[in-house]
Amino acid sequence: MEVKMKSFAKEEANRILEETIIIPEQFEKDYRSYCLNMIKNFNNTLKSGEKKRYLLSVIITDRNKKCHVWEKSSLTSIIEGGRILDTYKCIKCNITGKRYGISGTIVRDQRYAKYEYCKGWNLYI
Ligand SMILES: [Zn+2]
Repeated sequence: MEVKMKSFAKEEANRILEETIIIPEQFEKDYRSYCLNMIKNFNNTLKSGEKKRYLLSVIITDRNKKCHVWEKSSLTSIIEGGRILDTYKCIKCNITGKRYGISGTIVRDQRYAKYEYCKGWNLYI
């Protein structure tokens, strides 16, 4: 996933640096720690002329908010009101939805209707 990381250098009049960082999948849940470690590593290996940096913020970019990562949560198909459906859950934000028949579209459950975009790891529910 992609984040925007802002850091600043105290010794350079608090100059702010903004970078786009791709977080490897295995670190997505701890993306803040991942960025913090990047800063720590940078500070531990300063080259001449480089100043220590401090983490200011890490924001998940809009691009990542857009897709839920659906995983089938029903073991077998369910029949409801004469229709066959499978239930799904987003592995990131935990919202649930249903897929009717063999249509490719997963419809978010009513109570999650407003979550058109995924907010990332377990931010609600
Ligand atoms: Zn989601």
